[in-house]
Amino acid sequence: MSALIQAQKDQIIDGTECPEIDFRALAECSSDIVLQLGSTGDLLYISPSATDLLGWSHQELLEHHWNIIHSEDRSWLLETSRQLNSGEREESRSSFRVRTKSGALVWVEGAGRRLYDCNGRPNGLVVSLRDISVRKQLEAELERQARTDGLTGLANRRVFDETLEQEWAIARREKTHLSLLIADLDHFKLLNDRHGHQAGDECLREVARVITSAIHRPADLSARYGGEELAVILPRTHEEGARAIAEHIRKSIEDLHIPHALNRDHGQVATASVGVATSLCLDPSRPETHHALLGIADRALYKAKNAGRNRVEFSMLVLEKKEA
Ligand code: GH3
Ligand code: MG
Ligand code: MG
Repeated sequence: MSALIQAQKDQIIDGTECPEIDFRALAECSSDIVLQLGSTGDLLYISPSATDLLGWSHQELLEHHWNIIHSEDRSWLLETSRQLNSGEREESRSSFRVRTKSGALVWVEGAGRRLYDCNGRPNGLVVSLRDISVRKQLEAELERQARTDGLTGLANRRVFDETLEQEWAIARREKTHLSLLIADLDHFKLLNDRHGHQAGDECLREVARVITSAIHRPADLSARYGGEELAVILPRTHEEGARAIAEHIRKSIEDLHIPHALNRDHGQVATASVGVATSLCLDPSRPETHHALLGIADRALYKAKNAGRNRVEFSMLVLEKKEA
């Protein structure tokens, strides 16, 4: 039990008089929301800053305070309030979402404590709420940056690795096709040497835009796999579909007509070679991992390079049921 709660209990039991402090004025001047809940969860008091922050009138808050909490957060908050009231815990701290009258969601951090009456008996809860939306927005932005490649805006390598591993597990469990494309820009070192690194960076950005606009399903993921290698994961996509997307990407990159004076075999514009791999695992107990799919996509890419670049090569991996 915290020192404050102990002091509160001792003071009440001792009958010590509080000094002349206007606690209601303190609560009403605070930018935090202060509220008192009865032992059955009814709202006995809420400070005016609740109306300032959320737009609900005092009366609306008294009547609907539990309903303005986001539905995903309401049940565990009700459970927390029950635990505080029953004495299973003395205090709690948590973040949750509440809805404003205009329909927006606001993140708040709540700190709840058990209250005691003048005889030291539990008497509901006191809760303070603080608006933490700005902090949550910053956290979300940091999270987004940690998952995004700074140059191209695509998912970064970490997200690519995580996603491929997850999709491999799903495809194996569901016995569905999983396709992977790796697009590698042709003679990109020469493009940098001849046209400068800024032109190289801009080329990568434009190619990333082409790749992003070539995929449409929510589960598809485009990512920067390495320096000038961009990858696409296509869950539940069979070989014909993956090949068609790869060919569309290859052609769209060529059609950008990005100057590449030293790419003489391919019209002196930037081009890419694409390795495509599709897996179909028919036995979930097979030991192969997503690295098997990466390996054959890589081999298909090398084949495309060796065959003259600016082309798509394909490889299929079927993992049959092993004979007993
Ligand atoms: P290949 O056709 O065989 O793929 O030849 P390549 O020159 O593209 O391959 P190589 O692996 O020799 O060179 C890749 C080049 O990509 C080297 C590096 O300078 C360039 N590169 C990698 N990342 C970036 C980047 O973020 N910006 C720029 N401008 N260039 C990059
Ligand atoms: Mg490369
Ligand atoms: Mg290259």
